[in-house]
Amino acid sequence: MIRLHDTLTRTKRDFVPADPKRITMYVCGPTVYGRAHIGNARPAVAFDTLARLIRHEFGEEALVYARNVTDVDDKIIAAAEAEGVDVPVITERYERHYLEDMGALGVRDPDIAPHATKEIGPMIAMIQALIDKGCAYQAEGHVLFNVPSDPDYGVLSRRDREAMLAGARVEVAPYKRDPADFVLWKPSGPAVVGWDSPWGRGRPGWHIECSAMIKAHLGETIDIHGGGLDLIFPHHENEIAQSRCAHDGAPLARYWVHNGFVDMGAEKMSKSLGNIVTPAELLAQGHKGETLRLALLSAHYRQPLPWTESLVAQAKATLDGLFRKAGDAEPGEADEGVLDALRDDLNTPLALSRLSAVGDPAALKASARRPRKHATSPPPTASATSSRPRA
Ligand SMILES: [Zn+2]
Repeated sequence: MIRLHDTLTRTKRDFVPADPKRITMYVCGPTVYGRAHIGNARPAVAFDTLARLIRHEFGEEALVYARNVTDVDDKIIAAAEAEGVDVPVITERYERHYLEDMGALGVRDPDIAPHATKEIGPMIAMIQALIDKGCAYQAEGHVLFNVPSDPDYGVLSRRDREAMLAGARVEVAPYKRDPADFVLWKPSGPAVVGWDSPWGRGRPGWHIECSAMIKAHLGETIDIHGGGLDLIFPHHENEIAQSRCAHDGAPLARYWVHNGFVDMGAEKMSKSLGNIVTPAELLAQGHKGETLRLALLSAHYRQPLPWTESLVAQAKATLDGLFRKAGDAEPGEADEGVLDALRDDLNTPLALSRLSAVGDPAALKASARRPRKHATSPPPTASATSSRPRA
């Protein structure tokens, strides 16, 4: 039995999927306008590990794992303008880099990777449903979700109204009925990427993208919704509100799973603070992808992970020791003690310490199987990221 910490209830719960033959998991993916940093890699690695565990427990075909690609966004538009190129030049380049970088860390591609620009129809349909149900309204070319229409708004983040307004850094705009209302659709000028809609030419807000793509690909209620801690508010709170209203109260997810930050010194690693380290840089320095993966898994996924050179050196030493011990043994049965640690809310530090104590080289080899082969060759060049938080 897998147990998972659920952010909604703030408790660790037995993981009982609605349908064990079709388990659905959605993780908010990258906004593709820059190179991913190691903090961006943490959810990719953590949820890849969870996906592997679920497949081990329920069967390879039992999981449908979706991770979206946000390929329309104001930061993307700004990056394209700065380079003087079309938006797809930016988004295709950085999506390719993202997949290379995560692949190098042994992250398997998700089963489904919906792209926002390919899902405008479902987004427009959901926005229209929200208007029809009285949860959203049109104002000056925008469509906004009316937060007071949802009496349960705040259920995930448990923030009071003042903290929500401060945390969302919401734009004060004269056309908003309530200062907490958030954008579902916004107008695009002639020079900006946009699509025709019942409310004029425009583009979707970020939050509606996930709600609409979850519905389109996985259904109204999914088993697991994941992402970084910084997405709890406002992004996931807004996803919950939109989906619940559009689907007559059906909950969006049965388990909410959030990973902690990677820290540099006393601060969260983030592009806006300029304190980032990228997997591409680390690989170019000669570190192996499997070492970086192990470093990312050396702390429990919900805890902060301070990123230091000694963390990477320690991960390399641990990995070298494990491979030495496993030697040439053929993989046997995975060690149950290691698996039990993973089943307990993905307790990777305990799993790693048990792995180091495993006596049977075959069990060790099965439990510590190397990531895919291509994972060790460094991808070309480096630069920046896609850190998510926005209002
Ligand atoms: Zn999302």
